[in-house]
Amino acid sequence: MPTKKINKKKLTALVTGASRGIGYSIASKLCEADVKVIGTGTNSDQRIPKGCEYKQVDFLNLDSLDNFLKYVGSQEIDILINNAGINKINEFAKITSTDFDEIIQVNLKSPFLITQAVLPYMKEKNWGRIINISSIFGKISKEFRSPYSASKFGLDGMTAGLAAEVARNGILANTLSPGFIDTELTSSILGESGKNEIKKTIPIGRLGSVEEIATFACWLASEENTYISGQNIVIDGGFVRV
Ligand code: NAP
Repeated sequence: MPTKKINKKKLTALVTGASRGIGYSIASKLCEADVKVIGTGTNSDQRIPKGCEYKQVDFLNLDSLDNFLKYVGSQEIDILINNAGINKINEFAKITSTDFDEIIQVNLKSPFLITQAVLPYMKEKNWGRIINISSIFGKISKEFRSPYSASKFGLDGMTAGLAAEVARNGILANTLSPGFIDTELTSSILGESGKNEIKKTIPIGRLGSVEEIATFACWLASEENTYISGQNIVIDGGFVRV
């Protein structure tokens, strides 16, 4: 967990997509660890964990994104969790150009722009932790998931290049790739019957919980992580290795 040190400024984390699912859980755990958390969601009402500061942004609205980037650049962000993501599954031939662009915009281009906005402060402080939430579909893929996989493989590639570039500035950047996690996104894609089928193919025999992802993400973002950078860490109950 990010550690609280006496006479030391509280760390500040930006967690995108903190209104639900994995991002909500990461934001909660960071708050519990006495990190100041700025969490985002697309809605005007605040649906983030108690104690977090809420910022509304829609990565598909370029004015909204632009305002958000200016805001992020003005903040002293020590920990960036690029978590917000979308998925739309479809047969390759039926994927529209708009759907492809939207998935790339939310899952890849926005994390790129947000990372650019936080780097000057991290470099100045010579410390930073960046975690990009990818997916097992950024390691392997499956039918109907080409745009999602393109975005998540891309996110991991971007993380590797970034990690190599900023390690000497005390900034550790990693990809975290969840398997099937029980969230609204998973339910909307698989449905209840799909989730039951998937469970049979996961060695641990169940979907993962948001807390299982959040616990590791918080450690990876903490001062206890001093030597892991440029990695793509998979948390999937053993799924991609069998
Ligand atoms: P989720 O429950 O669907 O939540 C998605 C979050 O992203 C929400 O906070 C949502 O905000 C935000 N978001 C959606 N569209 C956005 C947009 N246009 N602009 C800005 N923010 C937007 O998702 P999740 O299941 O927790 O997944 C979180 C991350 O983990 C994603 O990157 C996903 O690809 C990845 N992942 C999930 C799983 C899984 O099994 N669930 C597995 C592997 C990887 P609103 O609430 O305002 O819509």
